[in-house]
Amino acid sequence: MTDGMDFGSKIRLLDKPANKMFRCGHCSHLAPSYNPNFGFCPFCELYTDKADDDLGRGQQALLGEIYSSLSSGKFPEAAASFDKMLSSQRSPQNLYAAAVFYTLYSDYEYSKREYTAPRGFMEDNAISTSSGLEMYSKAKLLLYQSISLCDKTPKEQRDALLYYTKFLAYTRLKKKLEASRALAELLQNDNQRFMTEYASMIHHCSMADKLAEPSIAKVIDLGIPNAFYYAANLLAEHRKFREAKELAAKLLQKVDMHYAKQLLVGIERVQARL
Ligand SMILES: [Zn+2]
Repeated sequence: MTDGMDFGSKIRLLDKPANKMFRCGHCSHLAPSYNPNFGFCPFCELYTDKADDDLGRGQQALLGEIYSSLSSGKFPEAAASFDKMLSSQRSPQNLYAAAVFYTLYSDYEYSKREYTAPRGFMEDNAISTSSGLEMYSKAKLLLYQSISLCDKTPKEQRDALLYYTKFLAYTRLKKKLEASRALAELLQNDNQRFMTEYASMIHHCSMADKLAEPSIAKVIDLGIPNAFYYAANLLAEHRKFREAKELAAKLLQKVDMHYAKQLLVGIERVQARL
């Protein structure tokens, strides 16, 4: 990060109420946006230009089920709803969103491991570990299925969303070369460039290169609050912990973003060791 550069002038955007609440049609999360035309899901990061009223009743009901299970931490129920969604529509986006959910489920199972319990804890830990591993494998399988479905889509039906989804799936699989290729394909197929800008931000942040900072600024300028998470993460990587925490906390007042919460916990942990 260039010296003196901070996100101080941009952070003021978060003082204003969001222009519109979009709903992710694949994982049910609300995507508050400062852009009146579209948003990006704070959970699975898929593009959305749908508000609740734009969704059909059946889809609204299923997303409502997923949302209430997730917000009350009922993972098995949420898993059943994701499976139901996949059996009714097995799209690359639904497969990808379900993979993001199973990754979270896996993290949750691992986090249940308890090494301070006085007795019998090894057995419980083994259960949590195998369950975490099972969820992790399921997430990976869903990502590959999403990519495979993208590749099977006839050329004339391939659109920006398809390449964007493929990019996200490869990024989650940590396959950088394939993710770069998907990003190049997205660039050629995305007339509006919104998904390209968001994907470029993820790409440059994951490479930690010098374009990370300007690409975050571009997505903030599009009115997408999720970009502040990437800004906070970048600040934390540069050990600007106070600014990073401030930014993540401010973002969380506007957007319920799991990654921002995780970042705050991570910073606290690092600071406790200092
Ligand atoms: Zn989503």
